[in-house]
Parts: sequence; structure tokens; C-alpha cells
Amino acid sequence: MDFSEFAALCYELEKTPGRLAKVAAAAEYLKRLSPDEIRHGVAFLSGRPFPVSDPRSLEIGPSALFRAGEIIQAGNSSSAPLALNDVAESFARIAEASGKGSRAEKYARLRELIERADPLERPILFRLLHNELRIGLHDGLIQEAIARAAHTDLKAVRRAALFLSDLVEVASVALTEGAEALQGVDIKLFVPLLPMLSELSQDFDEIFRAHGGKTALEFKYDGARIQIHKQGELVRIWSRRLSEVTRSLPEILQIARKDLNGDSFILDGEVVAVGKDGRPFPFQELMRRFKRVHGIESAASETPLSLHLFDCLFSDGSSLIDDSCDARWLKLNTITGGRYLARRKLATDKAEAEAFLNEAIASGHEGLMAKALSSPYMPGNRGKLWFKIKPAETLDCVIIAADRGSGRRRGWLSNYHLAVADRTGGFAPVGKTFKGLTDREFTEMTATLRELEVKDEGYTVTVRPEVVVEVAYNEIQRSPQYSSGFALRFARITRIREDKGPAQITTLAELQALFERQFISKSRREV
Ligand code: AMP
Repeated sequence: MDFSEFAALCYELEKTPGRLAKVAAAAEYLKRLSPDEIRHGVAFLSGRPFPVSDPRSLEIGPSALFRAGEIIQAGNSSSAPLALNDVAESFARIAEASGKGSRAEKYARLRELIERADPLERPILFRLLHNELRIGLHDGLIQEAIARAAHTDLKAVRRAALFLSDLVEVASVALTEGAEALQGVDIKLFVPLLPMLSELSQDFDEIFRAHGGKTALEFKYDGARIQIHKQGELVRIWSRRLSEVTRSLPEILQIARKDLNGDSFILDGEVVAVGKDGRPFPFQELMRRFKRVHGIESAASETPLSLHLFDCLFSDGSSLIDDSCDARWLKLNTITGGRYLARRKLATDKAEAEAFLNEAIASGHEGLMAKALSSPYMPGNRGKLWFKIKPAETLDCVIIAADRGSGRRRGWLSNYHLAVADRTGGFAPVGKTFKGLTDREFTEMTATLRELEVKDEGYTVTVRPEVVVEVAYNEIQRSPQYSSGFALRFARITRIREDKGPAQITTLAELQALFERQFISKSRREV
């Protein structure tokens, strides 16, 4: 296939708003790919120069990208058409250049590629270099397109995606081996699968209700998720975002080889960086270990890791993911002989659960996980089978405006616009909330804000930024809606901080750091 066909599809998808029409166009494209084009063709469609599971990357610096942008605007192209596979080959050659002089070499190879492309192909190439096609085709829609192109059930595509964790692999099986092969995709050693996720809960009552009165509580370690695969002497380890980290974690590799029983297994766990006193190090220390490629041995002695395993998905040739959580824990006990395990306690009442939560926090951990005893392991699933409980995270924000209430809140200024301190001495909005105050506090807050009023636009009243509130939230998300670039999900006021002024509130830099930290440990929902 010519790259121009792919570029034409991108332009078509860009101007097609409807989901069904997008899926239909993408499916037609997938059907036209020959078997040796599927891998690149699907990677490109998802906006990536390489498949997710391919560790290569282009590593083109910003100045080369800038210069490439300039050639894209200018000059003619050669007349020979550029094939999809030519582009893939050029990307491979760019990624390959390494060592001394590689920057210039990468740029030369990139320039060669761009010069071969025609004026319509060039902007699409450029978007691929940025990992962003802007055609509104997220992974869910690509899965639908694969199902449609392969005349198979969407459910089978979704299920296979959980086990293969890369749509390129899913499309290869679906389009070359057919629907039956897709149905047969299963957990496999050395193919990492998406980890099971949890839902946030603040309340043990909710947990006991959802788990039928009994739940398995485990310490929630503030570290990084790993999945360990082993067969005989071969051990490989993947991170939560499914990048391979085997080389960065030699001591975990040794544990898997020497200390654990069983010839083959897949285990799920968390590694935490620990200080000499046994307490966890800040998260950044751990991330440094994960990213380290050189001096691994010295890093291992400076920042030792502790391992806390909590699940077993595969053992001695068989998948365990349909077994109950309890049965999998028993298997994990056999494999570990009781070592390297997450602290765990079965609980049937709230007082017991709260005492265990306090114990976790007192030992420097993040909170607890609560797992339904009968639950299977559901890769990629975020739901009530696993809950996480952690004391809510809070920020101190200033109120910069308020909306008038309606219904029961009529007469009050009740929806508060929250902001953090920006770098210029001003305030950057991060969201709004009407949650958390009592009726009396609403009344008082309305009077306070009225005194601070600078502009009344009818619905929204802008105020001098003086009232500081402590705000709890579930997640910080990126948001184009607010000039800060971030929005707090499920923001609620937990306290009015009369003791604080606007000079003491959370800064945008701190918010950014909290966002990054959560992103690294959480993965975008993503994955
Ligand atoms: P969060 O990152 O806040 O969404 O919380 C879920 C994460 O907690 C998981 O992805 C794991 O990395 C981590 N975690 C720590 N301890 C446990 C545990 N005992 N069971 C499951 N996940 C855990």
C-alpha cells in the first residue's frame, strides 16, 4: 500500500465526526493491508511510529524536529511513490542510529524520508513523529475497526487486547489467522497482560457491601507495579505500562530465579524503594531505578528495593485468572513459601479494617487495597472487585469566583471556582465545586464572598482571591478547559482554611508534580 492512501485516510477521518463512519473507513483501510503491512499499518493508525510493545523509539531531539518541520513546508518531493513499508523502514533506520554522531545521522535519515514524501503526505509524517495523528481514532474505535475488518465479534477483539496488550498483535491474529484464533488467545508466558485495577473508595461500609461482608485487605504499597514472568532460568519483568524493566531490576530477577518455587509462573506485585530503616523512599527514587540503564549494580545498592507480591496469574503451565482471588493467594503462598508477600488480613468488620488501615499508614504506606475473595483476575479491569482506600489527597486552593445556586441552593453563591498559585503571582483555575459545605457554611461563605466581590455578571460573581479552602479530589486530569492545564476530578471542600492566606496555597508547579507522580504510578486509563 502507498503511504498516500494512509495519508488520505487520515484526512478523511479528521473531517468525519461520526463514530460509525470513522470505524467503517478505518476497517476498509485495515482490509486493504497485506499481511506484511499489518504491523506498521496498525501502529501508524494509532498514531505511533512503532507498535506499543516494540521498545524502539525514534529519539529525535526537538531541534531536529523543528528543522524537519521547516523542510515539510518547503521544496518538492521526488516522483517515486512512497510505500507504507518504506516509511516503516525509514523509522527503523532512524531509531537504529545510536552513539557518537547519531543526532546528525538521525536528522539526515529523517530528511531523506521527508524529501521522498509528497506535500500531502508530509504533514501526516510529521504528526506521526509527534505520536499524535489528531484524527479522533482512539484505541476503542480501532478495536471496532479490527472486528469489522475481520468479520468477528467485538467482544473477542477486546478480550484478546487484554491478553496481548497491543492492538498490532490483535490485528495480526484477527486479520491473518481469523476469528477462531482470536477466540483462542489466552494468557501466555512472556507476553505481559494488562494489570487488574481498582476503584477508589473512602468508605469501608461500601466495601463490605460490595464484597458480601468479607474482604481481603492488603497494604497498598506506594511503589511501582511489576509483572514477573518465569520459565526455568528465563525471567522477564514488565512495568505497569508494559515496558520491559528486567535489566533495571537485577535483585528482583535473582529473587524470581533463586527464592521462588515453581518452574513457571506469572506474578503480580509492587516494588518499593526502601531506606536503611526499612521505610519507603520517596517515589522519585524508585522511578530513577526504573529508568536507569547504566550503573545498575551501584543503583541497586544505593536504592534497595523490597518486593511485595499479591497475585499469581499463571503457574506450572496453567492460567489461574479464572480462579478465585483466594485460590490464587494460596498458590502464591506455595510459590513464595510466605516470603515477599503483601501484608494481608481478612476482615469482616469496620473497626478491624480501620485498625489495619492505620497500621499501613503508620508504617509509611499509602493505604489499603480491598479485594473480593471470590473474584477472578480481570486484566485491565477497574471496578468494585478491587478497591483502594487511601486518605484523600488534598490541595489548598483559593476561591476566585462563585456561581449563583439554584433550586435548594437559591440565594447562595454555591459553586466555587478554585485556583492554585501560578508562576507570575496570579492564580490558575483548576475546577469548580459545590460539594463539602453545610447549609450554614454556604450562608456564611456567600456573605464573605459578597464582601470580596469585584464583578457580578449575573450568574458568576468574580471575587478577590482571599478565601482559602482545602480541597480533596480523586484525580488530577489534564484539561484544555482551564488555563492551568489541569482539572481536579470530584473536587470537594474539606475545610475552610481561615488560617491560610492566598500566599500559602498550592502552586501550579506543585500541582504539576502531583500530576506527574500520579501519572507515572497510575498509567493513563487507559493503557
Ligand atoms: P492507583 O495507582 O492509585 O490507581 O492504585 C492502584 C495501584 O496500587 C496498583 O496499580 C499497584 O501498583 C498499587 N498497589 C500497591 N499495593 C497493592 C496491592 N496490595 N494490591 C494491588 N495493587 C497494589
